[in-house]
Amino acid sequence: MRTLVVLLLLALPLAAQSIDDRVSKELPRLVETFKALHTAPELSTQEAKSSALVASRLREFGYEVTERVGKYTDTDATCYGVVAVMKNGKGPTLMIRSDMDALPVEEQTGLAYASANKGVMHACGHDIHMTTLIGTAQVLAGMRDKWHGTLVLIGQPAEEVVKGAEAMLRDGLYERFPRPDFVIAVHDNASLAAGTIGYTPGYLMAAADSINLTIRGMGGHGASPEKTKDPVVMASEVVLALQTLVSRENSPLDPVVITVGSIHGGTKRNIIPDQVQLLLTVRTYKPEVRKRVLDGIQRVARGVAITNGLPDDRMPVFEHLTGESIGATYNDPALTERMVAAVSKEIGAANVIKIDPLMVSEDFSLYSLDHKIPAVMLNLGAVDPARVASGEPLPSLHSSKFVAVPEGTIRTGVRAVVASAVDLLR
Ligand SMILES: [Zn+2]
Ligand SMILES: [Zn+2]
Repeated sequence: MRTLVVLLLLALPLAAQSIDDRVSKELPRLVETFKALHTAPELSTQEAKSSALVASRLREFGYEVTERVGKYTDTDATCYGVVAVMKNGKGPTLMIRSDMDALPVEEQTGLAYASANKGVMHACGHDIHMTTLIGTAQVLAGMRDKWHGTLVLIGQPAEEVVKGAEAMLRDGLYERFPRPDFVIAVHDNASLAAGTIGYTPGYLMAAADSINLTIRGMGGHGASPEKTKDPVVMASEVVLALQTLVSRENSPLDPVVITVGSIHGGTKRNIIPDQVQLLLTVRTYKPEVRKRVLDGIQRVARGVAITNGLPDDRMPVFEHLTGESIGATYNDPALTERMVAAVSKEIGAANVIKIDPLMVSEDFSLYSLDHKIPAVMLNLGAVDPARVASGEPLPSLHSSKFVAVPEGTIRTGVRAVVASAVDLLR
């Protein structure tokens, strides 16, 4: 009995601690962790050291950790997925995801802790995500009296090449480990001030499709076009005609982007080549719009070929690179609303800002299994508030000059995710 009283007394100051108090206590070490991760970025599918660091820290906080979870289609490649589980009585299961990979970018921030891995940089802030996951893990492990259920924390590799989520699911993420009732994540935002959280109910990020379109012609002498079918002229027609899929066939209320980012054909000014290759990225939200636009690209290319009198066996070749393509990121509206309420209570409603959807892409929504599991990704402000206020142009994500301001971003990230978790695991 006396021991119990002593224990209760000891527990009192802990119970009275706010989430922010707990984060404050861990912040210096978290900032150090962030800087260490920022200095040592690893490219997609090569996250050996980053995943080992995440795994060892989560293990230290008492989680049951499994490493190398995930199977790529290339079975020779190691998948560095990390899964950490903490069971804390009866209740729902919440999965929190961080990605871990960096980008092939030469860092130009001039920071003391800039990348020491030449040509590789955490330019998308996945170093912030890992740090937030570690901080969240620690704070939640320290306040087990405030939540009930099961926590599944995952470190996902290969987000930038949209292969990691798929690989982890393929390896039995939801069979070998508890299947979540909710999935949440944060992604840093390069235009929001540190200290704020951005949210978007519904579509947050676009579907991305990589298309290779080969326009075939019949080559010959540049001085005798009448004896050829010129694929350079046809490719030019196609590039322009594709934009009418956006402007004339699509509702202006449904965002679509068709970008021809590379056009390649020919070797010499007086030779008409046999073919020209176009490399496209296509962005859409709704599945029906996505399908219509992809079908339309094939139709337009074929139409141009027919107009130019090409025979059937020289029709354009349409190649959809499904391994490089991904569906839209969709935030479950009800779960978004619940999280916004919880986060607003924690960091103040004025710091929780509704933001516009983005046309960039993510593989996070795969964890929702086609909207069967409610999933939400919040945006985490990562910019010095004074810089945002000044209105100066800010480097975007993937820029060689982008880096999050550590303290404010990490503090807000951990507070927001912990507050959401405590609310969801009641
Ligand atoms: Zn990115
Ligand atoms: Zn990212």
